[in-house]
Amino acid sequence: MDKITVVDHPLVQHKLTLMRDKTTSTKGFRQLMREISTLLCYEVTRDLSLDPVTVETPLTTMQASMLSGKKLVFAPILRAGMGLIEGMLDLVPSARVAHIGLYREPETLVAVEYYFKAPTDLPERLVIAVDPMLATGNTAVAAIDRLKEHGAVDLRFVCLLAAPEGLKNLHQHHPNVRVWTAAIDERLNDHGYILPGLGDAGDRLYGTK
Ligand code: URA
Repeated sequence: MDKITVVDHPLVQHKLTLMRDKTTSTKGFRQLMREISTLLCYEVTRDLSLDPVTVETPLTTMQASMLSGKKLVFAPILRAGMGLIEGMLDLVPSARVAHIGLYREPETLVAVEYYFKAPTDLPERLVIAVDPMLATGNTAVAAIDRLKEHGAVDLRFVCLLAAPEGLKNLHQHHPNVRVWTAAIDERLNDHGYILPGLGDAGDRLYGTK
């Protein structure tokens, strides 16, 4: 379980409950997703290393700290991952973004790729893959496969909800990818949806159903 961090901050849990509520509007859902993603981003970056720097304040000179190393990469899995990205960029505006286009084939639930564009120097950066729903885990596994093929070595995964099945699948394929999630739900239904869940995150974000 040390590979999984459940972000149990009261604000995260409160916002998640509002997102689960089927009467929450598209506008409200999108806003909540943005808010909650800043809090998840805060937690996933908690242990980033710092370098000492000298800074001149208006009054004096002091030793302070700044993030060390190259800029982070956020890697949203399209399309629902885009809902998390704005809030994460609010917090880390200089981060790079790798877009990964994958969809779940409805019959087989297998992940099918249709787009991939990432910074070229992935091996030197911390890459944080993001998708609100870790359901079967097939999409997450495929996304991380692709990021690794492009050289990423230091990888984390952020989601809003995880199913036990998805966590197991992800860690079977990628045991060194740690996961941050707001909750671990009960199970998947026969269509690969998380129960109790919040429905289809992409549809709820973009009002497509
Ligand atoms: N994708 C979603 O949007 N919702 C689920 O419950 C599972 C996968």
